[in-house]
Amino acid sequence: MTAIDPETLGTATDRPFAFDDRALFGHPRGLALLFVVEMWERFSFYGMRALLVLYLVNVVRWSDARADHLYGTYTGLVYLTPLIGGYLADKLIGTRRSLVIGGCIIAAGHFALAFETMASFYIGLALVIIGTGFFKPNVSTMVGQLYKPGDRRRDAGFTIFYMGINLGGFIAPLICGYLAQGAGFRHLLESAGLDPARSWRWGFAAAGVGMLVGLAVYLSLRERYLPGIGLPYRTTLHSGARDGTLAEPPLTTAERRRVVALLLTFVFTVIFWMAYEQAGSSLNLFADRYTNLHVLGMSVPSSWLQSEQPFFVLLFAPAFAALWQALGARGKEPSTPLKMAIGLACIGGGYLFMVAAGRLVDTCLAGHGSGSCAVAGPGWLSSFYLFSVLGELCLSPVGLSYVSKLAPARYASVLMGAWFLAIAGGEKLAGELAALTSRMHSQAAFFAIPVVAALVAAIALALLVPTLARLTGAETA
Ligand code: GLN
Repeated sequence: MTAIDPETLGTATDRPFAFDDRALFGHPRGLALLFVVEMWERFSFYGMRALLVLYLVNVVRWSDARADHLYGTYTGLVYLTPLIGGYLADKLIGTRRSLVIGGCIIAAGHFALAFETMASFYIGLALVIIGTGFFKPNVSTMVGQLYKPGDRRRDAGFTIFYMGINLGGFIAPLICGYLAQGAGFRHLLESAGLDPARSWRWGFAAAGVGMLVGLAVYLSLRERYLPGIGLPYRTTLHSGARDGTLAEPPLTTAERRRVVALLLTFVFTVIFWMAYEQAGSSLNLFADRYTNLHVLGMSVPSSWLQSEQPFFVLLFAPAFAALWQALGARGKEPSTPLKMAIGLACIGGGYLFMVAAGRLVDTCLAGHGSGSCAVAGPGWLSSFYLFSVLGELCLSPVGLSYVSKLAPARYASVLMGAWFLAIAGGEKLAGELAALTSRMHSQAAFFAIPVVAALVAAIALALLVPTLARLTGAETA
């Protein structure tokens, strides 16, 4: 386990009112609230994400490349605004209020999408982008604020929180995807005298409803379960402001080294997310066109496959948390950067399944011209999704926890924002990469790109582990 001295380190949770609450299976009750609120926010995000590219290509009739570019720009910006939202929360409004502002804007965005005109479409995307900036980094920071520095429950807390994210991500494509693409729902619309071709708007609207539910839960329970959590940093009774002045102490050398270590690891997460975030774009289209979706006698909407990754997260997150704990007890837990390198290796290896599936499709396309080539069994995508999630669990929840551990208190949210900035870079690159599919004319060759990129990054990061350990003062595993 990383050895960090809480006495010398002002962390994200260096607040006088950090909780000692253990009422929720040993965790603060505020965690349950943040779990539910973030679950609904992610419901709205992933519900819409499952539909976006499919909607643009199948309904609006955009080319794949155009849809993939827009998808990359949209998701990139969604993860870029958290940098600003994190900064505003740190300096001005506090994480507590940011969530309310963000939640309202996000919900408005999804409802705008439901109007299904191009103008409202762009307005909707812009609103989701802005709202997520206020919401996403700050809800994660608030989880960190529930625990005191050095509290060993922190990693477990983030794992539980991560399951909330993925519970939302799991349910959303099932519901929003059914509303948008499900044959049953179209019949229902028809029998109610409504236009079945307009089924997509119901999917988008459902995403907005999800966000409103999260917001309502947050507003009604935050006084009770999050008292004093997430106020602006400067209004807390932090020792730096004891004399009434608001001067910020400069970063110490140790703090600065930790920030450098954080920023270095962020570079590698860009590659991970570039590979991972093919899910909503190239892999979503692969599911739609090239995957045999007749399972157990029924035809499954392609968007439903978007639920597989969150499903695997829910399945394996507790096992991973237990694994790290068991290894930690024996002094053998890998350091966070080493876990991240393993994560990169998992996703790179996982893409080999897609290379194999791509070969089947390539062979079919070579024989049929542009006829239907839904020849890949769903097992290929599922196997890839499984490996991508094993990688995700080595990188993403531990990464959030790593940020909240190493970030100096007054930069807690802004460094959380920087974590999201790396994701933003990955998302934009993911869109660019996905857009290559139409130019490459070979699915197998296309999927070989993330294999190589992720494996090279895994090796490079593994080589950097000792340096990072020196910078953070942590012991190498
Ligand atoms: N699934 C996680 C989330 O939505 C991680 C995704 C990401 O960070 N790109 O927060």
